[in-house]
Amino acid sequence: MQHKYIVGHSEYHGSASVRLPHGFEHDIRFYCTEEEVLPRMVGITMLSLDSLGIPITTPDTHPMVPNYEFFPVDSRDIDAVYTLAHEKSLCIDGPHGQEWVKFPEGLDPQEIHFVGAQLPIHSSGITRLCESPESDECKSGEHNCEGILGLYKGYSLDFVSCRASSGATKIADLSSFGSGGQLGDFGEAVDYVLEILRSESKETLFDGDFARYWDGLPPGTQAVFKYNSKIFEWCELRHAYTASNGWRDAETLGKYLVTQADEGGSHVLSALLKNSLIRKHTPHKYLLQAFALEMIVSGDPDRQDAFALQFKKQSVSVRAQLLEEQRVADYVKAMSLLP
Ligand SMILES: [Zn+2]
Repeated sequence: MQHKYIVGHSEYHGSASVRLPHGFEHDIRFYCTEEEVLPRMVGITMLSLDSLGIPITTPDTHPMVPNYEFFPVDSRDIDAVYTLAHEKSLCIDGPHGQEWVKFPEGLDPQEIHFVGAQLPIHSSGITRLCESPESDECKSGEHNCEGILGLYKGYSLDFVSCRASSGATKIADLSSFGSGGQLGDFGEAVDYVLEILRSESKETLFDGDFARYWDGLPPGTQAVFKYNSKIFEWCELRHAYTASNGWRDAETLGKYLVTQADEGGSHVLSALLKNSLIRKHTPHKYLLQAFALEMIVSGDPDRQDAFALQFKKQSVSVRAQLLEEQRVADYVKAMSLLP
């Protein structure tokens, strides 16, 4: 039987449930229990362990599950999976010293299907487990639909994704799963790294002890730690700091900032724009453009509407500065936002 790991974000709305494929009830696994949010770090770690033959325990699943809606991953997931596949080991630093997790063999990237990449997203912006839940075939667990269960008919599947309705707060952690005693506590490891980051002085934030410590970590470990938003933000800030010659080259910093809309999408821009150092050192024109791009590339209709509203309210000179950025200009033209 062919196997795929489905990596993506998912949640569900409403009470409709769908039947898992008939005869495959035990070959379709989820990495968290119902109503749980699966932190990406936990999910990716379990995926790595499983794909490398280390036994993991997944929760028992009822044959009827909510019709989960899947939407695309961001670049961090892709980085983490491929880096781990390449590195074959993880170094976890904690209060009790260093612990290495050695993976016996490389992970096969062909087995991993990212939602929004190998796994197609429908024009609605989501792909559900089942896309014809009212049909008799799908009701009986014979999915020939355009949903994930139909697209991957005959496969065993591991879902590396959340199972909660939106707004849920119950979080899955690694201690719920057997990992063959191979893994320490990631929560403790992250706290340890954050403690070193917190004790770094402002003057040496990007080239002091923490930076040296970070540079000494293997890329696989860095990729996993970057799931922590504070560590992720530090990494992105450090790129900007380096690119701008330690904040001295404001013009380059501004240009760097707006290119992040293409490189990392809105989550990188949001992390950077939240930071006071970025706001202090970036020329006003580029800040305007970056805020605009962050709303435009977010893919969130509410934020895009907010951009449209704000754009229309701006003075002619602010609009001119925004329109200097080609992607903003293209968007404004496509949406006919100019009077
Ligand atoms: Zn179906």
